[in-house]
Amino acid sequence: MKKFDVLVVGGGIIGCSVACELRRAKLKVAVLEKNTPGAEASVAAAGMLAPHGGPRGKTVFFNLLRDSLALYPQFIDEVERATGLETEFRNSGLFYLAFNEEDEASLQEKYEWQKKSEVEVEWVSGAHIRKNEPWAGSNVTKGLYFPDDCQVDNIKLVRAIEAWARKLGVEFLLGNAATKIWLDDSKLKGVIAGQEKIESPVVINAAGAWADFDKSLPFSIPVKPSRGQIMVIRQHKPVFRRMIYTRKVYLVTRDDGRIIVGSTVESVGYDKDVTVRGLHKLVRGVVEVNPDLGALSFSQCWAGLRPRSQDNLPILGKSPVPGLFLAAGHFRNGILLAPITSRLISQMVLGKTVTHDLTPFDIGRFATKFFAPHAEV
Ligand SMILES: Cc1cc2nc3c(=O)[nH]c(=O)nc-3n(C[C@H](O)[C@H](O)[C@H](O)COP(=O)(O)OP(=O)(O)OC[C@H]3O[C@@H](n4cnc5c(N)ncnc54)[C@H](O)[C@@H]3O)c2cc1C
Repeated sequence: MKKFDVLVVGGGIIGCSVACELRRAKLKVAVLEKNTPGAEASVAAAGMLAPHGGPRGKTVFFNLLRDSLALYPQFIDEVERATGLETEFRNSGLFYLAFNEEDEASLQEKYEWQKKSEVEVEWVSGAHIRKNEPWAGSNVTKGLYFPDDCQVDNIKLVRAIEAWARKLGVEFLLGNAATKIWLDDSKLKGVIAGQEKIESPVVINAAGAWADFDKSLPFSIPVKPSRGQIMVIRQHKPVFRRMIYTRKVYLVTRDDGRIIVGSTVESVGYDKDVTVRGLHKLVRGVVEVNPDLGALSFSQCWAGLRPRSQDNLPILGKSPVPGLFLAAGHFRNGILLAPITSRLISQMVLGKTVTHDLTPFDIGRFATKFFAPHAEV
């Protein structure tokens, strides 16, 4: 029987990052992945590391996003140095565009609370945006500029983290799905994967949109899939230097000129189809930025499943079963949150002081609001 100190279920960016951190503490760590590492949401993402465009108010979650962004340069440095692989990590900054008074009013709200929170943000004119980003159209009236927001090629990053994990000595058990958390008299023994039992006193559930895979547990993990469709357009030379964000779409340019256009947010179960309606929404968003972008070539499209919890916040930390930890529900920000998640989960597993208050992200929050054990146990 295979035996480890820590078994991570799920080889997405979260599972692989957590595995690296715990392996660095000299534990015997394995990642159990039903497919190949990064096969799901982590490679489907756009790679924005942009806490400022997203959440609406200054919350503990906003701080978590910002703290993770602050860890990114060191995280990338370690991964790239250890593997020699490049990840296109850039402090590119982000323009959030307005096209009318309604957009401007919504951006003003964002500007006010972020300014109060000492975020680097400035109002800029349409002319300023066009001067810096000539592909922004004449209909852009104003915008916010967030100089601290960054981007990364998440596909390259996931490949690099996997390579780093292997170099550190993390074992990968691939093509094998965890079917149950293995409990003996309510005590954690490890994981059952089909016919196989894998022993481990510590199990980390990083199974993304599948985190609730074990319906026999005495508690549910309220994470569901949220489909995001992406369209890729291309130009031989990069069109935008910064990330472009609007109320309809975002555009992230890769070094080779491809522009990742995202994304829809849909509750359609585990369906990863790309739809005409989804692409239509993305195309409308692109030509709003500038009708001339309509002349660019269509390159590719795909869809991925974000792990979305019932209140849209991640589920981090201990579970009601001692030894079983949760690192799930990262929804729209799992690429951004990888460094902080791996750090916090490893602090918990190693019994160290946990540097953030994880109460808002504890699964216990669902006990009062939404918590419902599985109907069939
Ligand atoms: C279109 C789109 C755009 C996005 N853009 C961004 C962005 O710009 N910035 C950002 O920060 N985030 C973004 N996200 C969100 C981000 O991709 C996710 O939050 C993140 O990838 C979650 O990582 P994960 O490791 O938890 O999940 P995943 O990457 O889905 O990994 C979970 C892994 O678990 C495996 N697994 C599942 N069940 C089992 C089982 N029973 N046994 C073994 N293995 C199992 C799966 O095969 C999978 O590989 C985007 C997501 C999408 C879909």
